Amino acid sequence: MKYVRFEAKSGIKYGVLDGKNIRIIEGSIFSSEYSITDKKIALDEAKLLAPCEPGQVICVGLNYKDHADEVGFTLPEKPLIFLKSSKSLNHPDGMIKYPSETNQIEFEGELAVVIKKEAKNISAADAYDYILGYTCANDITARDIQRSESQWMRSKSYDTFMPLGPCISTDIDPNSVRIRSYLNGEKKQDSSTAMFIHNVPTIVEFVSRVITLCPGDVILTGSPQGTSPMQVGDRIKIEIEGIGELSNLVVADEK
Ligand code: MG
Repeated sequence: MKYVRFEAKSGIKYGVLDGKNIRIIEGSIFSSEYSITDKKIALDEAKLLAPCEPGQVICVGLNYKDHADEVGFTLPEKPLIFLKSSKSLNHPDGMIKYPSETNQIEFEGELAVVIKKEAKNISAADAYDYILGYTCANDITARDIQRSESQWMRSKSYDTFMPLGPCISTDIDPNSVRIRSYLNGEKKQDSSTAMFIHNVPTIVEFVSRVITLCPGDVILTGSPQGTSPMQVGDRIKIEIEGIGELSNLVVADEK
């Protein structure tokens, strides 16, 4: 199943992808009661939105063996987690605004875990019971700011710095899917979540010991090797097997 959130003439709704159509859902996919109706809208008539509105965005740093090898770091024994502002949320095909305070913004293609129900102190063995599905994320980072500060929040949290989507896919093995990023059509990242240092259940267990996870929260699982700078006018596409493509254009911040 692939859930989407979209804007149509009738307002913002959830739906399920069905070929070139969306079957409209009544209610929220994060409540226990919702129904998939027989009403349909053509996919090209709907404006897709980020598939959820997370209250919290938890990110994992340095979680791919190939990226750790690339930068020469030793593999972390436990997940390194940090917060990214939920207000950095951006939509499929939304514009990424290049802030004036930085001279180096970079993409980071990542698998995002979408939480289904409240989770606290859960074990890795039970983690999948608390996961609705998975989507593509771009953990955009002002690399020059990140390098100049010991805290990463500012460099990761500018408005528009977290494109998310296009759908929440429920039927993939999150620890074994191919993940690729293309900058203006040129392949820049090509890896597999099989290269995770810490897999999805381990991460959910670790995070839930610290934070009460809530429906719609997302966990970004880290980026493989190949992150690189973007310029105004560039188009960045993140593609994950079994989910789809997340494509966004970089524009100048006109303030
Ligand atoms: Mg990242």
